[in-house]
Amino acid sequence: MTTTQSTPPAIEFANTVVANRGRVRDGLDDWLARNGLVDGGQFHQLRDAVRALLAAATGDSPFAATDLAVVNAASAAAPCWPVLAPAANGELAVHEESAGPDHTAEQLAALARDAVRLLGGPHRPDLRACQGPGCVQFFLKDHPRREWCGPSCGNRARAARHYARHREQTA
Ligand SMILES: [Zn+2]
Repeated sequence: MTTTQSTPPAIEFANTVVANRGRVRDGLDDWLARNGLVDGGQFHQLRDAVRALLAAATGDSPFAATDLAVVNAASAAAPCWPVLAPAANGELAVHEESAGPDHTAEQLAALARDAVRLLGGPHRPDLRACQGPGCVQFFLKDHPRREWCGPSCGNRARAARHYARHREQTA
């Protein structure tokens, strides 16, 4: 069986803060628009709390009780339950089902629960803050050789190593 690794939703959500050529840009509004969501401030608050907890889990800072409270409150704000349903390939898969009038609360809850499972679950030791130059993204080390959030950071690092080697040789 082949597994295709995809970025966990909570990490994709946290990575809406993007550094590009030394400038940090907040792409959350674009992300919300792409997902058909409207923010009354809750998504920003949850995103920042998830980022702070990811930073803590990857060693940069202590856990803050306020961040935990934000994530836990969002997780509790909409009821959901797992259901068994056929996936596209015909195999049975678990889907989180929820039924509430409040689509925003459901989306917030789904993201918060993903963060809860990531930060408290078996993948916690695999969480990484990307060490790419100036990078502010997180990723799950889902492969022993994975060192970067994405190909662009890997390419930049390879180019920097190549440049450093070249300088040594010509010095
Ligand atoms: Zn990176």
